[in-house]
Amino acid sequence: MAQDFFDTPIEYLKGVGPKKAEILQKELRIFTCEGLIRHYPFRYVDRSKFYKVREVNESLPYVQLRGFITNLQTIGEKRSQRMTTTFRDETGILELVWFKGINWVKKSLEANKEYIIFGKPTEFNGRINIVHPELEAANEFSGTMSAMQPVYNSSEKMKLHFLDSKGISKIQKTIISQLPTVINETLPDKLIVDLKLGGLRETLINIHQPSNPDSLKKAEFRLKFEELFYLQLELLKMKVHRKEVNKGVLFPKIGEYFNSFYQQKLPFDLTNAQKRVLKEIRADMGTGKQMNRLLQGDVGSGKTLVALMSMLIALDNGYQACLMAPTELLVTQHFATLNKMLEGLGIKIALLTGSNKTKKRREILEQLISGEIHIVVGTHALIEESVQFKNLGLVVIDEQHRFGVEQRSRLWHKSDVFPHVMVMTATPIPRTLAMTLYGDLDTSIIDELPPGRTPVTTVHRFDSNRLRVFGFMKEQIKEGRQVYVVYPLIEESEKMDYKDLMDGFESISRAFPMPEYQVSIVHGRMKPEARDFEMQRFIKGETQIMVATTVIEVGVDVPNASVMVIESAERFGLSQLHQLRGRVGRGAKQSYCILMSSFKLSSDARTRIETMVRTTDGFEIAEIDMQLRGPGDLAGTQQSGILNLRLADITKDSIILNLARKAAQNILEQDPHLTSPENKCLADVLNKKRRTNTNWSKIS
Ligand code: ADP
Ligand code: MG
Repeated sequence: MAQDFFDTPIEYLKGVGPKKAEILQKELRIFTCEGLIRHYPFRYVDRSKFYKVREVNESLPYVQLRGFITNLQTIGEKRSQRMTTTFRDETGILELVWFKGINWVKKSLEANKEYIIFGKPTEFNGRINIVHPELEAANEFSGTMSAMQPVYNSSEKMKLHFLDSKGISKIQKTIISQLPTVINETLPDKLIVDLKLGGLRETLINIHQPSNPDSLKKAEFRLKFEELFYLQLELLKMKVHRKEVNKGVLFPKIGEYFNSFYQQKLPFDLTNAQKRVLKEIRADMGTGKQMNRLLQGDVGSGKTLVALMSMLIALDNGYQACLMAPTELLVTQHFATLNKMLEGLGIKIALLTGSNKTKKRREILEQLISGEIHIVVGTHALIEESVQFKNLGLVVIDEQHRFGVEQRSRLWHKSDVFPHVMVMTATPIPRTLAMTLYGDLDTSIIDELPPGRTPVTTVHRFDSNRLRVFGFMKEQIKEGRQVYVVYPLIEESEKMDYKDLMDGFESISRAFPMPEYQVSIVHGRMKPEARDFEMQRFIKGETQIMVATTVIEVGVDVPNASVMVIESAERFGLSQLHQLRGRVGRGAKQSYCILMSSFKLSSDARTRIETMVRTTDGFEIAEIDMQLRGPGDLAGTQQSGILNLRLADITKDSIILNLARKAAQNILEQDPHLTSPENKCLADVLNKKRRTNTNWSKIS
């Protein structure tokens, strides 16, 4: 019976009716009482205190006043019309302003009548005013306004139908007054007791009508926990399911390929972190279950090498491997690296990209099916239906966040037995984000850079110092080093950016004249062949300066390059800056990163630049990046459910997230299918979620 109440369509609720119900469905996708009660306030305001006009200033948040209205007047014509009135109490006057709904205001306001008003004070032309105040006749005021009055999100359309914050608040009161005394819990009792959470009923009441800050805090904690807990439960259940169902190819042995590479070809010792991670991967691939592993590591930590050696294990067991990366440039470079490192081992490696000619392409496809090709490196082109393998055993995806989860899974389905999957991130991602974005994967972290690297020295220089920067570049070039100069290229303003790039190229060509200097340029508008040609000249050391857009952001590896100049650095995101800086400091020589900017910097831009100057730790940079941008702006979050969270925020609630993950893990360890009676409520909620999700997709 309790559940019946939650499932009640909202139009049957007193005070809603068909019209309002329709608006709530359209605007907020709220269909049932449960949907409505889960529409939490986004803020609370203090309506218990009355201010005097004299006390009001712009720095106050929301204020409530009692006083009289005089002097209503309409100013301006038609569209730019606004209405103002004077509001007075015994201590002074301020102005109330309306830009919308003027006719309504005119009709309903009475001069010289006492009102209670509520709103945000602002200052305009030296006078305090309140725009669009909430307002109520003092004689109708009930006088029981709470110190924590809820404020609800609402849209213009909703406001037109009396579904503003106040209107929603009224409906919530109705629901709460009708709440059955017993409602079905959404968390197991044990969890509620162990974590000292509030019960669902009291929590829902307290989130809408908190009686004090502590009860609000407790309600928020429980609801945040619940959201994060279910997110983790779903991810971990996926993982459990996959481990049970997805048989993986068994790689029982290490053989010729791996051993000869390790003994004869590997030009350096593996770092301890690389060794540890390889062990984890080997163990995974030896279980007969499908591996799904996220490989995290800072720029330059040697992820590619780990990928390569994992692929050799696949080959040793008679399987093929593929390596997928997001750009042609990166793919081409991986192809070259593999060819160089595996030379002489009798391994056939192919390159498959969108620009393959038909004949060549057909040949590659045939050799993939016949098994003649051992390793294929490619872009999205690898995902296409027409690409089939004889026996694909391992898929490595580099710089994952440019691929969607869905694309990932298409690769799994290229054979009857699922190939092992290893995903490598371009730059580190914060732990909390990894936990939600890749929460269904196992994680390996390379937390150590190869020895002999000197950390890159990073400085910030204003544009006005460009000549000195050029001077420094000349010194470095004289010592035989090479230099990158990178320009931002951001789609919306592409034309402008393109012009900046070309102007920059010209001024560099003038400052570094031929034949003493050779300058390359690489950008997205060039034909791939031309781009390749210029890239190759730089890699071979024929040119000393590479002027480029962010196409060189990922993966490019030229150890002799020791200076990275980033133009308009204030326009780059932190992880992009870190990625770019990772292009230098690859040899033993001291390297430099010079961040150029104008004088005018937003506070975020300043933080980004200061962070880059202060630290080279990619994990720390990733944290700060997420704090600055919020998870919604980070790549990949769209598909992760992070954005459906109502109260929880993974950038701020990491403690709760950890608790939630642990709790979900414990429960699934003991009851992987959630069949025990005490976990029935979990299974019920998951089922319901699944049902309503499909409903939604049909409706929209
Ligand atoms: P990323 O993790 O950014 O993909 P790479 O795999 O491109 O890093 O490695 C960066 C550079 O470090 C490459 O030139 C690679 O050959 C080199 N490298 C990798 N592992 C080691 C190691 N154990 N010792 C020395 N150099 C290494
Ligand atoms: Mg890499």
